[in-house]
Amino acid sequence: MSNEENSDIPDVPRIVLYGNDILRKECSSVDEGENIDKILIEMMATMYSFGGIGLAAPQIGELKNIIVWDNEWIKSKKKYESVNIMINPKVIELSDEEIPMIEGCLSLPGLEGVIYRARKIKLEYENVNKEIKTEEFLDVDVRVILHEIDHLSGKLFIDRLSEKDRSEIVNQLVMIRQSQKKKQALSI
Ligand SMILES: [Zn+2]
Repeated sequence: MSNEENSDIPDVPRIVLYGNDILRKECSSVDEGENIDKILIEMMATMYSFGGIGLAAPQIGELKNIIVWDNEWIKSKKKYESVNIMINPKVIELSDEEIPMIEGCLSLPGLEGVIYRARKIKLEYENVNKEIKTEEFLDVDVRVILHEIDHLSGKLFIDRLSEKDRSEIVNQLVMIRQSQKKKQALSI
């Protein structure tokens, strides 16, 4: 969002809400040598302060292929200890077996829905030291990773809901959209 372009890491982390076009855009790759420290710090701070277990860069207004996630901290109460930073993540294998889980999203507050996704994936990504890693993930980890990777191409979990489930949340979507517009208007 343009009004925050020249600020450093904000005291109050921001989150881009449904209704903002940024969430529907395609992200670009992080280049070698590109400094993304500020983005990473802000992404982690935002994820933790909003009580999330994953966040994609567009959710703080950065159209970059970066995700962060931490499936442990809500139980362990320890922030940053088990955080995963994935730069330019790419799914290279996806199991045919799919499982349902309930998903929500920090950009769609108050909404959740049952989504089917692969149970197992093989992923290629760069870690925080820009080393290329290939790793397999299962179950809840896959869930968070695929949800966040969707964000990098402008997809949201609501796009994957069944028609019936989606029709049931239309009113809530309109409300989030309107609150997003109000927010934008106040910050000009
Ligand atoms: Zn999300």
